[in-house]
Amino acid sequence: MNASRKCPNCGQWSRWTQNPADRCEHCQSILDPVALARQQAREERSKEDSGRFSMEFIQINPDDHWIIKFFKRIGLGFQVAFVSIISFILWLIALLAG
Ligand SMILES: [Zn+2]
Repeated sequence: MNASRKCPNCGQWSRWTQNPADRCEHCQSILDPVALARQQAREERSKEDSGRFSMEFIQINPDDHWIIKFFKRIGLGFQVAFVSIISFILWLIALLAG
């Protein structure tokens, strides 16, 4: 879809593909700075969301005492179960929302 948009900087009309990153043909300034800022904020938010559920797994050290290893394995088991449940819930939400 082709449209034109008035440049907020120089006031000339430029071809606009409705892309927030489109620039003015005359002065190269962003045609829709609000949409661009909104898009960047959305990208940052999605980055944060994906980082929220990536947890650091317990590292089992070969030099650890067997009791430590035993408890670390139990902890790791809980972590794996927890992450699986969260992933399943997220998948279910995505499925229901779609
Ligand atoms: Zn311009």
